[in-house]
Amino acid sequence: MAQHPSELRFRFQYVNQSGKVVGWRSVRGSLTEESIQLKGEILNYQAILHSTCRDRRLILTINPQKVSSTEIVKHLISGKVLALEITQAKALALEVFINRISSHYLAETHREELEREGKGREFHSVSCPHCNATVDLSLLNKTPYVYCRFCETIFQERRDLMTVGRTYRLCDECGWFDRVQGYTEFYFYFLLIVYGFSWKRRHLCDNCVNQVFWKVLMVNLIFVLGIFPAFWMKIKSLMGRTKELKNLAKANALGKQGKCDQADNIYAELYEHYPKHPGLLLSQGLSYLKGQDGHKTWSLLEDSLQSCSNYAPAVRVMNRLQDAVSKSPRSESRS
Ligand SMILES: [Zn+2]
Ligand SMILES: [Zn+2]
Repeated sequence: MAQHPSELRFRFQYVNQSGKVVGWRSVRGSLTEESIQLKGEILNYQAILHSTCRDRRLILTINPQKVSSTEIVKHLISGKVLALEITQAKALALEVFINRISSHYLAETHREELEREGKGREFHSVSCPHCNATVDLSLLNKTPYVYCRFCETIFQERRDLMTVGRTYRLCDECGWFDRVQGYTEFYFYFLLIVYGFSWKRRHLCDNCVNQVFWKVLMVNLIFVLGIFPAFWMKIKSLMGRTKELKNLAKANALGKQGKCDQADNIYAELYEHYPKHPGLLLSQGLSYLKGQDGHKTWSLLEDSLQSCSNYAPAVRVMNRLQDAVSKSPRSESRS
C-alpha cells in the first residue's frame, strides 16, 4: 500500500453557487492529520461527509452543525457544500487525503452508535485498497465485492480483482457504469468579423462522448481549427481501455438502444473476467429498462446487491424505480 503524506499545502479560491471563483487571487490552505486550514480558518474532518473532485475543483459535502468558522459557513453552497478551486496541488491528492481521515471518523461515530444500542458486534469495516478510506460495512451481508463510495473503486476483500473508480464508474451524465474520462468540449464561433472560442469540461463515458463528438464536429466543421479538438475527443474515447473491459462501451451502446439480447452476449463475456461485477449488473439492468422490461431490471439490480451489498448506485436506481412506480397513473388508480 502506498505511503501517504502527513501534510499537504495548496492554494485555493472559494467557488460560488454559479460555479464562479470568488475573489481575485488564491489564498493558502493546508491539510494535516488533525485538521484542514483554509486561510487560517479551521475545518475539522468530523464535519466532512464526503469529498470528491472534478479536474481542479474539490467539492466537500459538509455537516454545517460541526463547522465553527463563520467565514467557512458563509461560503457553503445550499448550506452544505464547500467548493474550492485548487492550485499548487492536485485536487485529487487532497480528496484522497481528506477521505482517508474523514471516513475513519464517520466509521468511528457509527461504531459508537452501535455500541450504545448494544449492537457493537455488528460493526464491520474494511480499508479501501485503492484510496485507504475506511468503508463501513456494518449491518450488511457479507458479499463477494465491496464498493468504496469515496473513490468508487469496486474490490474484493483480500484479493486483487478490482475496477478503479477513477476510470471505471458511473458516468456523470447517463448514470451507466462505464469507462469515464474528462473531456474539453471546444467550440469556435464567428461573429461578423470576430473569431472566438468557448469551451467547457465534462466527464463522460465512452458512449456519451460519441454523441458529444458528433455535435462538436458538426458545429466546428466550417472552422478547420475546431475539427482537431473534436477528433481528439474521439481518439481519446477509443484509447487506453482495460483489455478485459474493452467491449463494455459496445455492450452499453447496444443496451442504450434496448437491444438486450445482443448486449447480453457481450456482458456474458465481461463476466468471465469480472464474475457478477455489481457495476456491470447495473448497466445490464439499465439496458433492460431501455428494453421496457422493468422486472428483469429489478432482478439484475437485486443481483448487483447480492454481489456487493453496499453498492449504493444500485440502491439509488431501485429507489428511483420505486418512486416512478408509485407515481405512475396505474398505481394511483389502484390506491
Ligand atoms: Zn477507495
Ligand atoms: Zn454516459
